[in-house]
Amino acid sequence: MQSTSQGGSEPILFTRGVPAVEALPNQLISTCLQAVLEGPDGRSILQYGHNGGYLPLRRLLSEQYAVSADQLLVGNGSLHLQDLLSALLIKPGDVVLVEQPSYDRAIKTFRRRGAKVIGIPLEHDGVNLQALEKALAQQTPAFMYIVPDFQNPAGVTTSAAKRQALVDLAARHNFWLVEDIPYRTLRYKGESIPLLRDLDDRHTITVSSFSKLISPALRVGYLVAPVELVKKLTALAEDTTLAPVLPTQAAVVEFHKRGYFASNLESLKQLYAPRLQAIVQALKTYLPNVAFAEPEGGFFVSITLPEQNDYSDLLARAKQAGLILTDGRGFFADPLDGSKNHEHLGENFVRLPFCALTPEQIEEGVRRLAAVVA
Ligand code: PMP
Repeated sequence: MQSTSQGGSEPILFTRGVPAVEALPNQLISTCLQAVLEGPDGRSILQYGHNGGYLPLRRLLSEQYAVSADQLLVGNGSLHLQDLLSALLIKPGDVVLVEQPSYDRAIKTFRRRGAKVIGIPLEHDGVNLQALEKALAQQTPAFMYIVPDFQNPAGVTTSAAKRQALVDLAARHNFWLVEDIPYRTLRYKGESIPLLRDLDDRHTITVSSFSKLISPALRVGYLVAPVELVKKLTALAEDTTLAPVLPTQAAVVEFHKRGYFASNLESLKQLYAPRLQAIVQALKTYLPNVAFAEPEGGFFVSITLPEQNDYSDLLARAKQAGLILTDGRGFFADPLDGSKNHEHLGENFVRLPFCALTPEQIEEGVRRLAAVVA
């Protein structure tokens, strides 16, 4: 296949999972910010606000999730909320279970709060349940963290059957399941699967964000949990960030009120769906022997390259060939059997975020990757 003009010698960045810059709705956000700052709440949203977040946004989300507004906490992005959650739930030495691989910054956050983070192997339909049961037989975790839809980094979606098994295990062993769902709404094909919270809300904490649906710079993320937990987290938020960023939270409400959310989501799907198709096609064309879970949405596909490659060397050679990759080792936690430290896992793992690249760049990037691997 011919290389396109965009393919050229420009480095191709398969690195951060960020929205496409051309998809960031600056005009719409500007309109919303202006409207809220000049509206009846214009001054109060410039004041120190309640740490649970902007009440109209909590109300809007409480309707979406069919919970009460006091089960909602809106914070400065979802990673901020995961940090608060970690501060509250993790005692030093506690185990936190994650999918293996998992979101690198979440792993770091849990470790920083003193957790021993253990990875349960992720299969093409969710975690390996035998391995999970084995882990639970050894120790009850402070919580288990999963990204059930279009997982970061693997692109995997947990099946309905495994979701049911997870909530059953959480009820039996009495631990929290933290479901992180920032990509859930970005489904380009197929049918949506119920949330863990839809199956059993007693042990589920749902975390999500507008970073991928409107803009990450707004720093608006939220958490849905039982009231008692939300109260404690709100107190913790008050002691750390002092006040929520009300202007952007109010702008998110305005964005919904004006109907921008639905139209923007549609534009995102239209932009991203062909990019997913492009990466799937390119992988099948240029790396036909590498198996991968084909996602139906989100930002990521991932592959595991054949064992014999020296991974650090591969990353260096990729860079020379104009292909910047993220070191896959950051996505790995310690394994249950203790056979290896996490630093020695994730070699040959390559995450390929596809949303911020054009189909032409994607094809050229995968072509370069295949050449480097060969
Ligand atoms: N969770 C996952 C799974 C993510 O991929 C990201 C962003 N890369 C976040 C959380 C952080 O999102 P936010 O901008 O809301 O902090």
